[in-house]
Amino acid sequence: MKKIVIYTSIILIIVIFIPAIIVKTFNFVPKEDKRQINRTDPKREEAPEFHGKVKVYNIKTEEVMELDLEEYVKGVVAAEMPAEFHIEALKAQAVASRTYAINRMLKHDRGHPDHPEAPLCTGIHCQVYLSLEELNSIHARGWEEKYWGKIEEAVESTKGQVLYYEGELIEALYHSTSGGMTEDAIDVFAVDLPYLKAVESQYEEEAPRYKATVTMTGDEFVDKINKKFPGANVTRENIADKIKLVEKTESGRVKKISIDGNIVDGREIRELFGLNSTNFKIYYNPKTNIVEIETMGYGHGVGMSQWGANGMAKNGKTYEEILRHYYTGVELGLWIDDI
Ligand SMILES: [Zn+2]
Repeated sequence: MKKIVIYTSIILIIVIFIPAIIVKTFNFVPKEDKRQINRTDPKREEAPEFHGKVKVYNIKTEEVMELDLEEYVKGVVAAEMPAEFHIEALKAQAVASRTYAINRMLKHDRGHPDHPEAPLCTGIHCQVYLSLEELNSIHARGWEEKYWGKIEEAVESTKGQVLYYEGELIEALYHSTSGGMTEDAIDVFAVDLPYLKAVESQYEEEAPRYKATVTMTGDEFVDKINKKFPGANVTRENIADKIKLVEKTESGRVKKISIDGNIVDGREIRELFGLNSTNFKIYYNPKTNIVEIETMGYGHGVGMSQWGANGMAKNGKTYEEILRHYYTGVELGLWIDDI
């Protein structure tokens, strides 16, 4: 008992969660069936028909590429998930990436506001796409021989498969590592979607960024806080009194904190200290004057966890089971490109 009292008296622990890095911009889909709208809207006569093709704005060359949908999905799967991952995880990634892409095309078929040239881009803004040539240039020699066949198998064996919720294509968001539990979309994007709820995400311990720690002195910590929040008057001595947890998200991340009585979004703390996710704890030891911020997970935490997917696959789950785990209540279906 005495030990606990001493421990809590010298080490301040603040648990804070900030919405994790937003890797993908949110893409809200209205209730209507976009395909029906496309057919009946006279202004849409010249609307592009997909016919299995996607237009992708290349952020490096600043040109628009027209790619076969399935070939595009191969380049996304290879860029977004390590090819060493289990084939069932790669298949789950293929279905999620295909669903994400088609959703973007339906919503922004003439071009996304951030890149009016095309509905999709090759960067993390949408989902990363790399050509085989680019993949070869970033991987060690022999990568193509060893892994490309696996990528092709993951995509071709799930050809045309997408995720629906009550008959509508879903927003198939995904992220690297959740830290043990995924996040509800409402806590990150303020949009309530029944299939993007917080669920457990096991088997992530192997992920390189499952846990990370950012270390600084107490003075550096206090400086940053006071610069970001002028008037907060936080000092090394009053950290415990001035900074308090206000609200956690359903998955246990800190949603709101109070800094000297002002409510601050967790995301701001994440950005301020460059943290991997909003799932973090702050430890301050006044004796050593060291602040350690420990984060769990990497990414926004919404939807499928890629490392969790790989763990599930290695434990015998199929890609469909993985997808149905991370996207609550969804059905796997075929995309019929008939507009
Ligand atoms: Zn984009």
